[in-house]
Amino acid sequence: MQLRSVEDLDLENKSVLLRLDLNVPLENGVITDDTRIQAALPTIRYILERTNKLAICSHLGRPTAAREKKFSLEPVGAKLAEILGREVVFIEDYYEESCEQVLKQLDANQFILLENLRFHEGEKKNDLGFAQKLAEPFDFYVNDAFGAAHRAHASVVASAELFSKDQRASGFLIQKEVRALEELLRNTTDSFTVVMGGAKVSDKISVILNLMNKCNTLLVGGAMAYTFLKYRGIKVGASRVEEEKLDLIGSIFRNAEASKVRIELPCDHVCATEFKKDAEVILAKDASIPAQLMGLDIGPETIKNYSRIIKGSKTVFWNGPMGVFEWPSFAKGTESIAFAMAESPAKTIVGGGDSVSAVNKVGVANKMSHISTGGGASLEFLEGKILPGLRVLYK
Ligand code: AMP
Repeated sequence: MQLRSVEDLDLENKSVLLRLDLNVPLENGVITDDTRIQAALPTIRYILERTNKLAICSHLGRPTAAREKKFSLEPVGAKLAEILGREVVFIEDYYEESCEQVLKQLDANQFILLENLRFHEGEKKNDLGFAQKLAEPFDFYVNDAFGAAHRAHASVVASAELFSKDQRASGFLIQKEVRALEELLRNTTDSFTVVMGGAKVSDKISVILNLMNKCNTLLVGGAMAYTFLKYRGIKVGASRVEEEKLDLIGSIFRNAEASKVRIELPCDHVCATEFKKDAEVILAKDASIPAQLMGLDIGPETIKNYSRIIKGSKTVFWNGPMGVFEWPSFAKGTESIAFAMAESPAKTIVGGGDSVSAVNKVGVANKMSHISTGGGASLEFLEGKILPGLRVLYK
């Protein structure tokens, strides 16, 4: 299946609705990480070189009550104006102010940014009325919001469907993400390693199972490792275990055996007696964890083993932290995986979310082959699902 590209559209002087993922972290109105803005620039620039009748739309955060100021896209507008050297016309309420009128009056140096889509109930409901309101004034629809491609929301699906197939297309970021993930799924190397961590097995089970017949080795870390260890009959003390998921672990092991995938589990652990940032750090020197302790990070021997495997692989995909990496005492496992990936000659793909934060924090982002801007979207893609936001963009 091939995506239609923004390059397939004749945009000259036409009006364009561009859906982006500008969901950046903000602290007191200040953008603390502009990765998503930077990632959207190639498509924005490509369109602006052909027409200034452009309106960008995005969601930001998860506003509960309508129009909470802290979820406004205004600071993002200011940043876009600064980077692009153009004036942003910010439309706060596109029900009150006609986008069509503003489009007509735009001068050459201006483009439009619409306020947070999620300020409107219709967005998350994939509501046709809201989608019509959004889509009506435009000749073309371009989506480059990979991070939202797994959501059947109005700006992602219903709006797109209001344009004929040759009036809608994907931007360059979506194309890049899909190329990298498709390549992973087509893997033909004999040393493809998947590193999985994070809080819950349940969130990752489908992607693990789908990658089982593609990868050669699975390295498990984070809280989910304790459910794996418990299944194996190893004592995990007071560590976090998903009891009700033990049978799922069984299916992973059976699949691994059938597909000849090696599963590696932590052989030592960094523990504490309580789940606290400044808890005293106690090392459990083998795989089993004493009753009063909980595992909060992988230990030094596990780091050594996992790093060696990562450095000897040809392809590595990583999703999810190896421990409670938000707390310095339990961050070493996660940071070491980031370093091992940076030093590995392998094609290295980081699957969004916390793993991306870790890679950025230790300053090795430029050493990775691909860093996904969409955690949820990349995992669902790797589960083998056809994402609703991509389905409407395929040729
Ligand atoms: P996820 O969103 O599933 O990738 O999970 C990420 C979260 O898992 C992070 O907030 C980590 O702090 C948490 N986490 C990782 N390892 C552990 C652990 N051993 N015990 C408790 N939480 C953990």
